[in-house]
Amino acid sequence: MYDNLLANVPTDLWIDGKWKKASDGARFDVIDPATEKVIASVASATVDDAKAAIDAADAAFPAWAAKKPRERGEILRKAFEIIMRDAERYAKIITLENGKSLSDSRGEVAYAAEFFRWYAEEAVRNVGQISVAPASGARIVAQQKPAGIAVLVTPWNFPAAMATRKIGPALAAGCPVVLKPASDTPLTMLALMQALEEAGVPPGVVNVIPSRSSGKVVSAMLHDMRVRVVSFTGSTEVGRKLLHEAADNIVKPAMELGGNAPFIVFEDADIDAAIEGAMVAKMRNMGEACTAANRFYVHEKVEAEFSKKLSAKMGALKMGNGLDDGVAVGPLVNAEGRDKVIELVDDAVSKGAKILTGGKKPDGVGFFYPATVLTNVPDSASMNKEEIFGPVASIQTFKAEDEVIKRANDTEYGLVAYLYTKDMSRGMRVSEKLDFGMIGLNRGLVSDPAAPFGGTKQSGLGREGGQEGMKEFLEMQYVSTNW
Ligand code: NAP
Repeated sequence: MYDNLLANVPTDLWIDGKWKKASDGARFDVIDPATEKVIASVASATVDDAKAAIDAADAAFPAWAAKKPRERGEILRKAFEIIMRDAERYAKIITLENGKSLSDSRGEVAYAAEFFRWYAEEAVRNVGQISVAPASGARIVAQQKPAGIAVLVTPWNFPAAMATRKIGPALAAGCPVVLKPASDTPLTMLALMQALEEAGVPPGVVNVIPSRSSGKVVSAMLHDMRVRVVSFTGSTEVGRKLLHEAADNIVKPAMELGGNAPFIVFEDADIDAAIEGAMVAKMRNMGEACTAANRFYVHEKVEAEFSKKLSAKMGALKMGNGLDDGVAVGPLVNAEGRDKVIELVDDAVSKGAKILTGGKKPDGVGFFYPATVLTNVPDSASMNKEEIFGPVASIQTFKAEDEVIKRANDTEYGLVAYLYTKDMSRGMRVSEKLDFGMIGLNRGLVSDPAAPFGGTKQSGLGREGGQEGMKEFLEMQYVSTNW
């Protein structure tokens, strides 16, 4: 099975448009989380390899920046078309190394490709402005230039989309990139380099260097004076480290970090719609998403109905190898992730939570954990403070609007919040009071390449997607002149 799927998937470093071994010959294994079998051995970049990638990006930068925006846009558009042509292949590679169900992987491939289509269109809309200085009458000419070489660091939960969400706007802006994908899932982006090459991305414009020495390799790049942007998606803990590193050379940071999303269901909500939204907000990627609903707050008058309907839907989901037909719940990405979910559920139960469905790790191979619903979860349970990152819905009740806003905001994270109500004035009033970068108002999905994705507080800095996403890779230059 693996041989067929992984035939022609590259496993070396992609530097300057060529496949290269690591300078010290080191490699690391990639595991299928459904079978715990080694499926590939990938080159592990060294600091010297990272320098070679920056050299390649540096050499490619002037010509890429000078390309006409339409030409850059057309290459991105072609990349979108090639990825969609081969979508099934990419979806299977994602499932194989990440574990998520094929339907989730198909969704991710379409989402990932869409960043190239969107930024193909944005590449030609990099507008500046001209104005008259009020006192001197001089002309203020302001234009946006490519910021320079960008270092991109991405997580394993969306191995394609978290990378294309950065590569699309960087290339549209005229910046070359060096990407370090997560060590659990390096194959997807290596395979996608074949699509970018076919689309006509010149050598050196996109370089991909998986590495087991992430800290050293990324640190070396952030201390190279030629690097001007670091765009990171991952945990708040690592993001904080990279912000410290970026400070040394004043590298422009974009940080998409952790979340702890509340999902609020008011007493007037359409409960069936809320259930549909909850299934997406909780179960997209089996809960391994920064946007996953982590804390359900359901009004006490509708909690019984909501919990019953949600556990019926969750309990009916088929668990198994993500490549198999009809499977909705694949394995979690690794043993550590699965063990953390077990620990959080045990902690909640020991503090009084009740299991309505799931809650027990199956025997056998694979990092599986079933779709689980817990009610009566006390505020003191660790899962209300930490990202669960698994298929576990934690339900609590509330009585009043002000109370639930206060509890929802009681987190150091500020990525996304969801709320369900039929009263749109309440919906907007509560949205404004929620301290989160994104709100799903009667919707369980906010991710959209055309929208500014990002968080407040410890969920990050900057925005990805939409028009804002390109700004992370642009620098404003102003010329003062007279004519
Ligand atoms: P992670 O441990 O922070 O890893 C993310 C990336 O950083 C990986 O490529 C990792 O490489 C690398 N890395 C780890 N330590 C590093 C260091 N000291 N210096 C430089 N790079 C380092 O996060 P994860 O476990 O992969 O992903 C889960 C987290 O990502 C969750 O907190 C989730 O909320 C967050 N996330 C946020 C968003 C968003 O848009 N806000 C989206 C998706 C995920 P290795 O794999 O080699 O360790």
